[in-house]
Amino acid sequence: MQATSLAGRHAVVTGGGSGIGAAVAASLLHAGARVTLMGRDLQRLRTQRDRFTAERRNTVQCIAVDVTQADAVTVAFDEARKQHDEIDILINNAGQAQSSPFAQTDMALWQRMLDVNLTGVFLCTRAVLPSMLERQTGRIVNVASTAGQTGYAYVAAYCAAKHGVIGLTRSLAREVATKGITVNAVCPGYTETELLHASLANITATTSRSDQQAREALQRQNPQRRFIEPDEVAHTVLWLCAPESASITGQSISVSGGEIL
Ligand code: NAP
Repeated sequence: MQATSLAGRHAVVTGGGSGIGAAVAASLLHAGARVTLMGRDLQRLRTQRDRFTAERRNTVQCIAVDVTQADAVTVAFDEARKQHDEIDILINNAGQAQSSPFAQTDMALWQRMLDVNLTGVFLCTRAVLPSMLERQTGRIVNVASTAGQTGYAYVAAYCAAKHGVIGLTRSLAREVATKGITVNAVCPGYTETELLHASLANITATTSRSDQQAREALQRQNPQRRFIEPDEVAHTVLWLCAPESASITGQSISVSGGEIL
């Protein structure tokens, strides 16, 4: 098997300044792509870019944008094209997970979870699709979650948004199936990132559990009794971006140690 080559491709990774997004960006760069990192915190994106080797760093640009803001998303993607040309690959990875018992979930939390996890995917996809359709080529990978494949207590808004991402993925995949564009979702289980650390901190703050007990409780949900590493998610994303993966579309691939069967 040959290593995946994405030489000459331009990939945008939202939420590329940390965690899964940063690992995805590194793997796309390694495969030869030019990469645009997007996120709200420009300094965080630049710090991430500086971690890449000098040779790869030159092919990374950083653009600050809040993916929930329609006009700002349009501007950011126009900006991305100026330096790196048309976008061949979009990784919709930006996301947030906030928990709350259902009865205490207010409109603000509900709306925030839908805006960042679902509407952000819609807005960024809308920003790249016309050009992909015109050029009859493209890869869109949505980082959803096992929370898009099953329910978890205390995160109804996040789960609803991630289920929505899978619905969007399936629908768009069918719509563009004859246009050389694939649309897939990758669904990580609990993955060792800042987002998970915030969830662990919330568990220890709201229950009598220690950090270790909270970790063990979440790891028990994974049949392999461990957390997923960001690189494992990145590996699956990269595979979906490969030219050889052209027949895989509309799928929701669980990267969760068998949590979802
Ligand atoms: P993370 O390190 O917190 O990454 C989330 C990224 O999203 C950050 O870089 C953040 O950057 C960006 N972001 C958040 N809100 C944004 C907004 N409104 N506009 C633009 N960017 C925004 O956590 P992660 O675990 O790598 O999360 C990446 C994705 O994986 C998320 O979609 C998450 O739901 C999904 N996921 C994570 C897990 C897990 O256990 N870690 C499991 C399943 C799915 P800024 O703050 O600079 O904007």
